[in-house]
Amino acid sequence: MPDEPAQRAYDPRVHPAYARIDLAAIRHNVGVLRGLAGSAALMAVVKADAYGHGLVPGARAAVAGGADWLGTAQLGEALELRAAGLDVPLLSWLHAPGADYVPAVQADVDLGVSAPWALAEVLRAVEVTGRPARVHLKVDTGLARNGAYALGAGRTDYADLVERARAAEAEGALRVVGVFTHFAYADAPDHPTVRAQQEAFADAVALAERAGLRPDVRHMSNSAATLTTPEAAWDMVRPGLAVYGLSPVPDLGSSADYGLVPAMTAVARVATVKRVPAGQGVSYGHTFTTRRPTTLADVPVGYADGVPRHASNTGEVLLGGHRRPVAGRVCMDQIVVDAGDLPVACGDEVVLFGPGTDGEPTAEDWAQASGTISYEIVSRYGPRMPRVYTGGDEA
Ligand SMILES: *Cc1c(COP(=O)(O)O)cnc(C)c1O
Repeated sequence: MPDEPAQRAYDPRVHPAYARIDLAAIRHNVGVLRGLAGSAALMAVVKADAYGHGLVPGARAAVAGGADWLGTAQLGEALELRAAGLDVPLLSWLHAPGADYVPAVQADVDLGVSAPWALAEVLRAVEVTGRPARVHLKVDTGLARNGAYALGAGRTDYADLVERARAAEAEGALRVVGVFTHFAYADAPDHPTVRAQQEAFADAVALAERAGLRPDVRHMSNSAATLTTPEAAWDMVRPGLAVYGLSPVPDLGSSADYGLVPAMTAVARVATVKRVPAGQGVSYGHTFTTRRPTTLADVPVGYADGVPRHASNTGEVLLGGHRRPVAGRVCMDQIVVDAGDLPVACGDEVVLFGPGTDGEPTAEDWAQASGTISYEIVSRYGPRMPRVYTGGDEA
């Protein structure tokens, strides 16, 4: 087991900032996604600390909201869920040579297999544990990333993996529970690769079935595909971002357009207030200079907490009921907000982002301000921002 310390509880005596997580929003979002998935099962992807929302509370809320499965990238994440008592079907799919599958097989964690080395390691774990493993073959249908490649001329890596897996299944060492793939362009549903990957996946499933495999769950849809390409749902969808209420396709629709509620609100408090004259350079490198007398509010949250440095001079926060800009560079531990003539006092609450319903920026706004995607905004908020849970007892 990973022997990490339990996540430290928020204590305003030592933590200047925190992230509030609305577990009711996660439950609600899973319900929305279930509605879109039709008869397909729903795997809530909770990798990367549930996209920064807290692995175990996020997973519990997703299950309470109706998720049938949980999905993680790494083994440690999957084992932590099992140790916390989550006993729904659980898939972990991204491992490196040397991975120890013994505890995963013992804990009934399904394993994504992309390469012959992984199958060999799984079979070693089966020998050690005396238990058959549950495997999902990962097929690369055009993302050209993880997964056994199924395209191109001649016998493919994927066909080879299917044959090895079939042989192991015939010996009773494992069961191929699933076959899955991942889209390259799910956020652009009209892109020709979306159809091409669906066709390549159908071919890959057919190849596995011709070889005698009978996977229960054939799955390919992430959040974007779940929202925009329902015909790709197969037996199960695998949304991550949308579970947390963020839109994976901001150009096509906002969270609200899809009925999703963002679950994370990042909150800090003003530490220092000062009135400065026109012409004052602000923060490292003086990349911002005041044009008129103004009030500057120093807020103790910075890039080491997860605020993107690329949001220097472009991000905004909610302060005193108004959106105010980040002035100058984002520093490791703090930002400076140009409050203008707002009456600001030390200790005032600053909301960096949230659902947007009280006028605060959203994670999507911060993504645009820093040239990234909302996935990166929420998942990078780190351990210096304790999570405070509302809306449920899953914590
Ligand atoms: C991260 C991931 C998902 C979830 O993707 P979202 O875009 O967050 O919905 C699904 N499947 C795989 C294989 C992933 O790596």
